[in-house]
This record gives sequence, C-alpha cells and structure tokens, in this order.
Amino acid sequence: MATLDALVTELKEIATLGSIGGLLGWDEQVLLQPKGVEFRSQQAALIARMTHERFTSKQIGDWLGELLGDKLDGDAAVVVREAKRDYDRATKLPTSLVEEISRTTTLAQAAWVEARKANDYARFSPWLIKVLDLRRQEAACIGSPSGNAYDALLDQYEPGETVASLVTLFDDLKPRLAKLVEKILTSGKRSPAEILRRDYPSEKQQALSKFAAEKIGYDFAAGRIDVSVHPFCSGIAPGDTRITTRYNPNYFGDALFGVLHETGHALYEQGLPKDQHFGTALAEAASLGVHESQSRLWENLVGRSAAFWKWLLPKTRETFPGALADVSDEQWLAAVNDVRPTFIRVDSDEATYNLHIALRFDLERKMLSGELEVAAIPTVWNETFKQYFGLDVPDAARGCLQDVHWSAGLIGYFPTYTLGNLLAAQLYEAAERDLGNLDDRHAAGEFAPLLGWLRTNVHHHGRRFSGRQLCERATGSPLSADALMRHLERKAAKFHGV
Ligand code: ZN
Repeated sequence: MATLDALVTELKEIATLGSIGGLLGWDEQVLLQPKGVEFRSQQAALIARMTHERFTSKQIGDWLGELLGDKLDGDAAVVVREAKRDYDRATKLPTSLVEEISRTTTLAQAAWVEARKANDYARFSPWLIKVLDLRRQEAACIGSPSGNAYDALLDQYEPGETVASLVTLFDDLKPRLAKLVEKILTSGKRSPAEILRRDYPSEKQQALSKFAAEKIGYDFAAGRIDVSVHPFCSGIAPGDTRITTRYNPNYFGDALFGVLHETGHALYEQGLPKDQHFGTALAEAASLGVHESQSRLWENLVGRSAAFWKWLLPKTRETFPGALADVSDEQWLAAVNDVRPTFIRVDSDEATYNLHIALRFDLERKMLSGELEVAAIPTVWNETFKQYFGLDVPDAARGCLQDVHWSAGLIGYFPTYTLGNLLAAQLYEAAERDLGNLDDRHAAGEFAPLLGWLRTNVHHHGRRFSGRQLCERATGSPLSADALMRHLERKAAKFHGV
C-alpha cells in the first residue's frame, strides 16, 4: 500500500494548495479592494498553475498506472478510480488550450458585463463565437463515448450524465410543467407577494437569516456568513465552509431564502468526510446537480413549507412588527410561494424555474453543435420564451444576455440546476418515507432528523456514486420528474385551487 499512501499524501498536498486558491477567491469576492484585483489575479494564476502542474505530473500517472493493475476495493478503489478520471481529463488538455480558455473567458466576461449594461447583443456575440470554438476544441480533446461534444463538457459537471439521458428527463418534465404553470396562471388567484416588498431593515434580516441557518444545522464554528454581490458557498478546507448573501432593505425574499439556499450547500460541504479523506474524491461532492439538490431542498422543500413558517413566522413577526402587522399567516405563506412568470431566471419561482433551464439546455446544445448560429440566438431565445411563458422578451438584457454562464465558458452547466431540483424533491419524499412525516418536527424547529438522513444518504458518500446512483440508493427509484411534479401540484392545489 506504499504507492497508495504516496498518492494520497500527494493529493492531499495538492488539495491544500487548492484550498489556498479557494481562500484567495473568497477574499476577492468579499473583502478585496479594487486596487488589489490586478495582483490577486497573478496570485490566483500562480496557485492554479502549481496545482495543475503537480496534479498532471508523470509521477501521479505512474502511481495510478500501478494501482490500477492492483485489485483494490472499498475506499481505495474509489480514490484511485476518481483520481484517474480527473487525471485523464487534466492531461488530455494541452496547457496552451487551458490558458487560452482562461484568458478568453476572462475577456468574454468583461465584454458580457458591458454588453448587458448597454443592452447590445452584437457586442457580445463575437466573444461567444470564440468561447464556443474553444470549448469545442476542449470537447474534442476530452472525447465522449457518444462522440457528442456536449457530452464531453457535461461530464465534468455531472459525471455519467449525457444529452440523451437529459433529453429524456426534460421531454417528460417540460409539458407537465407548462400545463401546471398555465393552470396556475389562469386560476385567477394571485399571491400577495407585494408584502415581501416592505421595509425590512438589513441588520434585522441578517440576524434572522443567521438564526435560521444555525437552527437548520450550519456549524458557525466551522463557517461564517458575509456579504457579496453574488451569493455563493465556498467549501474552502476542512473546518472552513463559508457562505455569502446580500441584503435588500426593501425586499424580504433575497436574503433569507438566499441564506437557506447557501446553507444547504454549506451543510453538504460540512457533512463531507473531509477530516479523514481531504484531498481525495471521498471528501468531494458527487456533482453539481447533487450539490444543488442540497441547496434547493433546504430553500424550497423546507424553507417554503407551512411547517417551517409555523416555526419561524412568530420570530419574523417579532423582528419586523411594522411590515407584518396586517399580514395573516396564510397571506405570508402564499407570498413566499408566489408563482408568476418572470424574464429573469434567478428571480423565478419553483414552478417556472425549470422552464428557464429547459430553454437554455436546448439552445446551448444547438449552438455548440453549430446547428444554431450565434447571430440567431436572440431571435430563437425570444420565440422559445414566448412559447413557454406567453411573454414577449423586451430586450437582450432580459433575454439571452442575462446569465454569466456562456461568457464564462460554462456550457453544459445549466441542466445541473434542474437535476438538483428533481433530486431535492425525490430525496425529501424518501426522507419522509424513512423518518415519517417531518412537518411536526420542522414546526417545532427540529431539523436534525432530516439533516442526519442527508448526512447518511448523501453527504457521507462523497464522490463514491454518481448523482443517479445516489438517487437510486437513497430513494429506491431512478431519478425522475415525478416527485417534483407531485410537490408542485400539491402547492398549486393549496395556493391556487387547481
Ligand atoms: Zn446553488
């Protein structure tokens, strides 16, 4: 086992270097002042190069070659299998291409910011052409069993997932969602969502959000909440998982649900067995979709439920006596469960969210393959949006220019959000099957049973299983749209009488 020990020791040091990069990244988004940004990019690039060089060394390749010839089982087999997977991906890409992608996407993101501000798609489209071309080159280096470039890119976010498997899911989900959304909108019943847009002083929102995060299980001795423009969670190192949020004193919906969402990510990071296995796949998240399932589960399945608000509403009333004076419990619950189409994905509700993703999944597949010309994207976007939501997109900023992903080269990333939503609903059903109905416990502020179930069935496994395998093991059935549709249909009946 000397070779395995040597490999794990080296992986741990590489991950330690990586965690320094993670800390620099957190600092850049939370604390760094503008004049420090330039040098920070050099620091980050140096760490990235050092980790890449050490991970792609011939020595690691030799160790992996030797270990793959041995008969391994249990943890060792997982560590070696996943290290080999990462090693192959990292060594298949020429350094020149990696650097070119990094350089181009940095510039493309800056161009995207400007184009969105100016509402001018033509300023961004030449950059999108370059980004797509580089990602096609990357896909060609990586390869995929199907020969489909999209599969090669998707595989780094969601191991084992393919266009074919996703198309099957979306083809089932899309018509069911569209029908439900249509029923909700024609029900004539609107939620009083305006009550969330009253005076909610930021420091009070901060105290309430922190209270909720701690109660659902976020360990503040191993984490913290700060403010950043774009909320995120960073599992920096063992014992150090940080989240951020933002506060809008005239809108309640951002901070609390944002904190519940990021806390869901943080609970996953804190639940991974990093103390024993840091540096190996056993201490890493299974996939982006599985990560997102944890955030959506706490944000939506728990955080928008009647039981949760039975627990938190009295404290919320105490915190904001003015804003909630004339609001009944039922009105509040309906407000935090509002459904209405919006142009912007990140502002959308649980019911319409996955239609936003379906649109992006369709378009990005076609633009990567070349079937959809970059110049035609705004038109096709707007047509598809109209078809799904019945709304005319007023401009590119509220249409195809709204997300950062394509400028950052993140093609194949969007579907992981929907996988997360489906998995969240399916896991929650399975947790209630195993633990009994959780409403009474959540209404009493007891979240430990659910967290314990997630620790055992999801967190504890690291990257031992793919998202679909985890799903089958934890829930007893293959991943499908059924649990999410049941959840959304229950809510539609409750709040819209349909
Ligand atoms: Zn998330």
